[in-house]
Amino acid sequence: MSETFTSVSQEEAGFRERVRLSFDLDVDICVVGAGLAGLTIALEAARMGASIAVLEGRHVGWNASGNQLGTVMPGFSLPLADLIERIGFEDARELWALSKEGAEFVRAKATEETMPGIAPSDGALEVSNVDAGDRLISRLQMLHEDFDTEVEGWQVDRVREALKTDRYFHGVYYPKAFQVDGRKYIHGLAAMARRAGARIFEDTPVVSIDHSGIRKRIITPSARLRASHVVLSGNVHLGAPLRRLSATLLPVWRYAGITAPLGERLHEVIAFNGSIMDSDRVDHFRIVDGDRLMWASPETTWAARPQRFAGAIKRRMRSIFPTLGDVEIAEVFGGVSGQTVHGMPQIGQLRKGLWVASGFGRQGMNTSAMAGQLIARGILWGDERWRLFSPFELVWAGGVTGRAAGHLIGVWSRASSAAAGSLARYRERLRAKDREREARLAEANRAAGTGRRRPPPSQVRPVRPAPPPEPAYEGERVPEEQGVSQ
Ligand SMILES: Cc1cc2nc3c(=O)[nH]c(=O)nc-3n(C[C@H](O)[C@H](O)[C@H](O)COP(=O)(O)OP(=O)(O)OC[C@H]3O[C@@H](n4cnc5c(N)ncnc54)[C@H](O)[C@@H]3O)c2cc1C
Repeated sequence: MSETFTSVSQEEAGFRERVRLSFDLDVDICVVGAGLAGLTIALEAARMGASIAVLEGRHVGWNASGNQLGTVMPGFSLPLADLIERIGFEDARELWALSKEGAEFVRAKATEETMPGIAPSDGALEVSNVDAGDRLISRLQMLHEDFDTEVEGWQVDRVREALKTDRYFHGVYYPKAFQVDGRKYIHGLAAMARRAGARIFEDTPVVSIDHSGIRKRIITPSARLRASHVVLSGNVHLGAPLRRLSATLLPVWRYAGITAPLGERLHEVIAFNGSIMDSDRVDHFRIVDGDRLMWASPETTWAARPQRFAGAIKRRMRSIFPTLGDVEIAEVFGGVSGQTVHGMPQIGQLRKGLWVASGFGRQGMNTSAMAGQLIARGILWGDERWRLFSPFELVWAGGVTGRAAGHLIGVWSRASSAAAGSLARYRERLRAKDREREARLAEANRAAGTGRRRPPPSQVRPVRPAPPPEPAYEGERVPEEQGVSQ
């Protein structure tokens, strides 16, 4: 079993010999980190004519950016309702529009001739774990009318036609969302940035930054760099250059697997080609390479080898789609995302010439693209729209205690999501039984030539739901020392 996610040849993915920074250099902008955020900033700023150096401690796309599912949606990790509550309707609308621009940026780059073979495909479906038809309608109205986003509501029957499982109820279909091969995208972005003139140095960790003067001094193990602007886009690994910034991110590792080819049986259970995610964001999956299933689910707040999660991913697939049967997991991969306390990315200027772009959480494709555009335009054109992110200050994520709390919250929210799902399915079965009983009674009355007799109102008793059955998978615990919140 491979632990990486690539069916892509090195050449196709844009790999090339790594270049280290081994000489002193002066540039306009120094970008720390060659993930989605850093490379988008580098590409945008280089195309605007600035001289750029990207310093990457490992290699392009080493972490989350090169190990993700490639789904591109509008919005943020923070649910829209919470965003409105936090900053008000008008500002939420502006931020949402920016997040859509971020998604369009990715589409534009992915369809440029210079980024071949990344196979964009359209459509994403968010399915509800609970029977929440009313909430769905008001959400659809809001997205469509107030947030100018194309969406379609799917009734339970339609969802279950597309996905052969009783786990999901209603769905929200985003026809304009899309997905790309995430690994090819990040290497394509690097290739574009290089072509635009940005210099990318790998195996070059930034060990300290003196940001006090007009020209900032950036120190690496074998060379120094001077720049008017420094952009910190190192996610949770930034470390020494600004420890206080890393401390505002809760690291959450997420793991994903891809099955071996499954043939026709996969299409019998999943008749939908785009990305699918549940409303609690526990599972996220789609069909790749024609008949393989790519699935992300387990999370930890401590680093662990992705390979350990092959079994958990397989069980998760089976618990949602029992008729799929036994599957072989051919590849496992994962990465760590930085989650902020408020759930929104950190985008802006910390002090003159010192910028930050991090904290993209589980939704980094469109949001990092948006950050790249905002920061490049902020530096070079004086565009101040990055200030829309000012309400989301840098909040300490709680250190080790924060990670332990994050782990517990993860366990709790997955368990409560599972319990809500079980209850919804239990109620659904109860309703089906009621309908069956009524039909049998009507049939018996018809045969006996009698009408339906109702008990007097005083005898009508409300039906009380029994406690839901124990969840099959969600209750499973991985040993504590692995720190798994599944
Ligand atoms: C399994 C999984 C699936 C996902 N699926 C999706 C999806 O389908 N859609 C979506 O929108 N999002 C998805 N995400 C989230 C998305 O991948 C992240 O939000 C995004 O990649 C974060 O990008 P980044 O540039 O901030 O960070 P990173 O990818 O972590 O890049 C930061 C880079 O900075 C470098 N660095 C750090 N410190 C230093 C230093 N001091 N000196 C030099 N270099 C440094 C690191 O080596 C790293 O390469 C997924 C994440 C995971 C883990």
